Amino acid sequence: MSATTSLALPTSRTSTEHWDGVVRYDSSEGNVSKHVFTTGNAVAESVLYRYPTFADRTVICCSTQSGCPVGCRFCGAGDAFVRNLTTAEIVDQPFHLLEDIVASEVASDSIGSLQIMFMSMGEPLLNLKALTPAIRELNERYPGARLLVSTSGPRVDYEPFHQLSEQIDTVGLQFSVHESTDEARDTLVPFKAKLTLAQMAQTGEQWAQLIGRRPFFNYCVHDRNDTDADVARLRDLFDPAIWEATLSVICERDETMTVAHARQRSLTEGFMTKMLTAGYSTRMFDPAGQDDVGGGCGQLHYVQKWFDDHPKFARRSAGSGLPIVHAPEG
Ligand code: SF4
Repeated sequence: MSATTSLALPTSRTSTEHWDGVVRYDSSEGNVSKHVFTTGNAVAESVLYRYPTFADRTVICCSTQSGCPVGCRFCGAGDAFVRNLTTAEIVDQPFHLLEDIVASEVASDSIGSLQIMFMSMGEPLLNLKALTPAIRELNERYPGARLLVSTSGPRVDYEPFHQLSEQIDTVGLQFSVHESTDEARDTLVPFKAKLTLAQMAQTGEQWAQLIGRRPFFNYCVHDRNDTDADVARLRDLFDPAIWEATLSVICERDETMTVAHARQRSLTEGFMTKMLTAGYSTRMFDPAGQDDVGGGCGQLHYVQKWFDDHPKFARRSAGSGLPIVHAPEG
């Protein structure tokens, strides 16, 4: 952790049925809080957003693994993997946030738009055995919630996930694409057993044909992947008639770099214009609370500290020791 850290101080400490401790950090901007769940041998993070109130729109990003073996070079969980979370440990994260925090303002069945995203920490499809019953349970508890699985595209059997998506019509799929060539993506996502971009496109199209819903791809924009040629390559791979695009404003994993946020947002807005022109239905994801609680997936600062404090549980991931990608220049 940097000596110049500006991270928030805890605002509360509690526990849940399946986690020994939950420490809450509130962002000074007011609409986002981070929740760090710990047991003796694992850590997880969830992020809770309101837009602008919980009653209007509530979004939860929760973890499926403690640490992550994929090792993405922009991600704060990218250096170490601890273990898969159990079904109960996954369900307990949104359950705690909805029942112990959101419920004081609005009942979960009265929320205008509720989305639970499996994207905070861990690769969901590498823990599908625990995630599948977690999704079933969450769908039973919160039938109106959209349940989005955001994946880096590991080379696994997608059939069980397709079946789950057929059975539960609130399940969504998003691929974390982030680059327009496999070469650039290999640098960013060092995990070897993953789909190529073409294979991701094919898998998403199969899902769309079978399920009848549109998949998303997520693209983190930086100043080396925002050209017209990038848009053309994406368009060749991901048919705008099938795919929707989420453009994410990059969250730097080093909290001292958050000053670059305005520049990253401006880059993303510029790229969004190009994607709209290319025919994509596009939305921007700009994680609130970056400056102090690290609202985005790349900023798992509290988890990094847990890794440092528990070296015997944190095994090196595929990305450990490789250069961090996307750090702003200058
Ligand atoms: S971005 Fe997601 S898949 Fe990549 S290392 Fe982080 S948690 Fe794992």
